[in-house]
Amino acid sequence: MENRTMERGYFGEFGGSFVPEDLKNVLNVLDENFETYKNDPEFIKEFNYYMKEYIGRENPLTYAENLTRQVGGAKIYLKREDLNHTGAHKINNAIGQILLAKRMGATRIIAETGAGQHGVATATACAIVGGMECTIYMGKLDTERQALNVFRMELLGAKVVPVDKGQGRLKDAVDEALNDLVANYKTTFYLLGSAVGPHPFPTMVKHFQSIISEESKKQILEKEGKLPRAVVACAGGGSNAIGAFAHYIDEKSVRLIGVEPAEAPSLTEGTPAVIHGFKCLTLLDENGEPQPTYSIAAGLDYPGIGPEHSYLKTTNRAEYVTVTGQEALEAFQTLSKVEGIIPALESSHAIAYAIKLAKELDQDDAIIVNLSGRGDKDVEQVYKMLQS
Ligand SMILES: *Cc1c(COP(=O)(O)O)cnc(C)c1O
Repeated sequence: MENRTMERGYFGEFGGSFVPEDLKNVLNVLDENFETYKNDPEFIKEFNYYMKEYIGRENPLTYAENLTRQVGGAKIYLKREDLNHTGAHKINNAIGQILLAKRMGATRIIAETGAGQHGVATATACAIVGGMECTIYMGKLDTERQALNVFRMELLGAKVVPVDKGQGRLKDAVDEALNDLVANYKTTFYLLGSAVGPHPFPTMVKHFQSIISEESKKQILEKEGKLPRAVVACAGGGSNAIGAFAHYIDEKSVRLIGVEPAEAPSLTEGTPAVIHGFKCLTLLDENGEPQPTYSIAAGLDYPGIGPEHSYLKTTNRAEYVTVTGQEALEAFQTLSKVEGIIPALESSHAIAYAIKLAKELDQDDAIIVNLSGRGDKDVEQVYKMLQS
């Protein structure tokens, strides 16, 4: 298995493309187009244009001086993905894939969404780039619980299709989107939201999210004159983490730390298995099915994780740790109070771990925490949790 490291779409034994033949053909065409356009100067120029003029990049690498003083230890820097238009990192990937879809001549974009964050990013990208119809599949149960996000996507011009099959959750929405893709591949592009799924999605999503570490590396060298001691990011499917790690993977002095919710510890406790068309470390129940998980952060509630993280974990290049919902909730409040920044509950997991880590490190060290999103979406939920 080890010699498959260099095989396309594999990260050691992880990754690959375990899908029916007709879908595989669609994904091969996507792969060829991605490989062509990612190096095309016009494509790169257009991506950079939207990143700067629409998303507001580059975003700052903010020194969290108050938090650093309170914790006592290494300097904590925050990479401010929360300041992107729409308030999180997901839009980087959505814009990248939409521009690719346009080059490929797609007239329809489809996507799946759980809590609605990826659906909103996709609908936003469709609105700004224009010329493509946007359909978002969402489990029926999720549409009921996230009525405002459904309305948000509709405001942005998308059609939201509630999926009534199975449990009416994210998995059922993914299945429906894949059926749609196979039936309509000539006109339709499937925009996947995290560094998961069959090849080429994990590679493509990493490519577009790598802008995070491309910027942060330049910024930390300007501010500190040296590389950080560690980069910390929360990991659900793993897209903000792989983007935050990418430009440091070859810098062996930099510790890469992915933070999982203790309630869905795919890497910390998972075993190798194929789910959703790719192989990764994942949590299975006694029947070998993906285990239902529950995290207070909807974006981290996924039983698997991107194949490259599975590889970075088994080769010990990156470390993966867990933080409980309770610890994340405390970090959510701490960052709000001492820095005036309300972080997403997902990002709060990374903050919680960074606070522990900073205490163990030297005052000369710097830690970069990827602040993957802002917490406005979570304020009501936190309010209710603190009341009860
Ligand atoms: C979706 C989301 C995540 C989790 O997704 P990854 O693919 O693991 O990055 C983390 N933070 C925020 C703010 C999100 O919206």
